[in-house]
Amino acid sequence: MLKIDMHTHIMPKYLPDWEKKFGYEGFIKLDHHKSGWARMIQGDKFFREINHNCWDPEVRINEYNKFNTQVQVVCTIPVLFAYFAKAKDGLEVAEFLNDDLVALVNKYPKKYIGLGTLPMQSPELAVKELHRIKKMGLKGIQIGSNINNKNLSESEFFPIWEACEKLDLSVLVHPWNMMGKEDMESYWLPWLVGMPAETSRAMCSMIFGGVFEKFPNLRVNFCHASGSFLSTLGRIEHGFNCRPDLVAVDNNFNPRKYCGHFWVDCITHDEVMLEYVLKMQGSKRVTLGSDYPFPLGDLEIGEFINNMGLPQSEVEDIFCNSTLEWLNISKEDYL
Ligand SMILES: [Zn+2]
Repeated sequence: MLKIDMHTHIMPKYLPDWEKKFGYEGFIKLDHHKSGWARMIQGDKFFREINHNCWDPEVRINEYNKFNTQVQVVCTIPVLFAYFAKAKDGLEVAEFLNDDLVALVNKYPKKYIGLGTLPMQSPELAVKELHRIKKMGLKGIQIGSNINNKNLSESEFFPIWEACEKLDLSVLVHPWNMMGKEDMESYWLPWLVGMPAETSRAMCSMIFGGVFEKFPNLRVNFCHASGSFLSTLGRIEHGFNCRPDLVAVDNNFNPRKYCGHFWVDCITHDEVMLEYVLKMQGSKRVTLGSDYPFPLGDLEIGEFINNMGLPQSEVEDIFCNSTLEWLNISKEDYL
């Protein structure tokens, strides 16, 4: 069976010294301090140590073979987004990351599918980069759950949704820049509590802001099985019904309407939760994702799904059909 992992992160082995080039801090630098490993440094702060499976396509293909997974959808690591940068510098960072992805996809067309990065701080430059991304053969984009703390419902982002629709480019919304992170640094709370909330924030913003009504052909996938969105949908819907004066101000449709319209990945680490997600979404709107190569991901690339006793057709939907439809690509191109 074809298995496509649609939520994985990759980065170039070497990054320019953007801090030096642009003259201000915030950009990630890489320190290859020992063989096969590098430290990500932001300003003068250590961010994360990464392994060569973050940048070496061959290492990744070998690791994926162990779990019978043939194709990886790759996008950058959100800490590289550079939305904080001046618009033209943000564009330069995005261009660098996107060129690197294009080179990878061109070298391994059956193994890798690319999702580009946009300078979201400038919708005008983002639309320009979307056209370039399309021309170069990437299938979509990955964006953050908020853009410098602005919600995805802001009208300034509408031209980006419009261009994605027109250019037939898909969208992956990834949690990052977690709300409240300064107040909960211990216990990895930004990742364990903030990330699921961020994804729900993005989904509620897009739904209540009417983004899916204005752009009905926009194909959006939300990470980590929607974060806390689906598991709190009862509350969200009740809020919509009991205080429409607060909630239904830009869109009159019940939020439940959109289940099965957008896609979510299967990263739940929990069979019972995935059963619920499948019930809410339908198997054609749940995609195989892993968050590889990071430890909080499902590094057995969906192996647990094989043991859930699901009908084979549903497993096949999750493993490939849903992603093929989300990205509007053909199975034959990856066999
Ligand atoms: Zn991720």
